[in-house]
Amino acid sequence: LLLAYEPAKRLARLQVQMERAAVNARMIYEILDTQPHQRDKTGAAALSVTDARIEFRDVTFAYGSNPPVLRKLSFTAEGGQTTALVGPSGAGKSTVITLVPRFYDPAGGEILIDGTNIADVTKSSLRQHLAYVSQQPYLFEGSIRDNIRYGRPEATDAEIEDAARLANAHDFILAQPQGYDTPVGENGVTLSGGQRQRLSIARALVRNAPILLLDEATSALDTESEAAVQQALDAAMAGRTVIVIAHRLSTVVNADKIIVMQAGEVAEEGTHESLAQQPGGLYARLNNLQAASNGPHNIQE
Ligand code: ADP
Ligand code: MG
Repeated sequence: LLLAYEPAKRLARLQVQMERAAVNARMIYEILDTQPHQRDKTGAAALSVTDARIEFRDVTFAYGSNPPVLRKLSFTAEGGQTTALVGPSGAGKSTVITLVPRFYDPAGGEILIDGTNIADVTKSSLRQHLAYVSQQPYLFEGSIRDNIRYGRPEATDAEIEDAARLANAHDFILAQPQGYDTPVGENGVTLSGGQRQRLSIARALVRNAPILLLDEATSALDTESEAAVQQALDAAMAGRTVIVIAHRLSTVVNADKIIVMQAGEVAEEGTHESLAQQPGGLYARLNNLQAASNGPHNIQE
C-alpha cells in the first residue's frame, strides 16, 4: 500500500508544481516585455505587420515529454477579425494562445503572421505587436497607474488615462482614495473582479497592438460589472485581429469565425449560424447545453 501511495503523492505534488509554474508563466506573459531576454535565431529580422493575419499550419506541440496537446492544428485568424476558440476543457485552447508570443515553440508545423514564420523574427518585435488579456487578471504591487503602464513602460500619463477611459475604468479609478496613484496588489486597496478585469484590459489597450489574445474570464460578474467589462472588451477588440478563448455566448455569436477544438485538433470551423445547424455536431451540442442553462456564461468548461 505504501509503495502504491508514495508515487501517487509525488505525482500530486508534481501536479501542484506544474500548475504553479503555469500560473506564474501566464502572469509574466501578461506583461510581455518584462520577460527575461530570450535568445533569437542568429540573423533574426524584426517582424513587420500589415494585415495582422495569423496562420497556424499543421502545428504540433507537447509539454516536455507528455503526449501531444496539439496535433497538426491548422486555422487562420484573418486580419482585423475575431476568431473564437471553443471546445471542452483540456482541448488545447490556452496552449494555442501561448504559442503566439512564442512562450513555447511548436515541435512541428509553423505559425505565420502576414506570411512570416514567427520562429524567424526577434521575440521582442513579435511581442510588440501583441497584447494579451488573461482569464485571471493579475495586479502587481504598485499604483493603479503602474499597473496599466506595465502594458507599455514608455506610455505617458495621458496615454494611460486614455486607455483607462476606453476600458471603462477611469471613473472607478478617480473614485479611489488617491486616484491613479492608489496602491493595489497585496498591500493596496481591494478591487472587485470586474474592476481588476478592466485594469487588465486598460493594460492591454495601452500597448495599442494590432493583435489581441484574449482568454475570457469564466467567473460570473454582477450584471453591472458584466456590462462594463463587455464595453471595455468591445473597445479593445475593435479594429484588431483577435483570438479569443470564448466563454460568453455573445462573444461566440459575434465572432467572425469559430474554431471548435477537441483533443488538440480542429473538430469544426465556421460561423455560429453554420455550426449551430450541423446536426449532431460538437458545436451544436455545446450550443444546446448553453441554451438549456439559459445564461450568458460557461459555453464551455
Ligand atoms: P484548454 O485551454 O482547452 O482547457 P490547455 O491548452 O490549457 O487546454 O491544456 C491542454 C492540455 O495540456 C491539458 O491536458 C493540460 O493538462 C495540458 N497542459 C496545459 N498546460 C500545461 C503545462 N504547463 N505543462 C504540462 N501540461 C500542460
Ligand atoms: Mg484554458
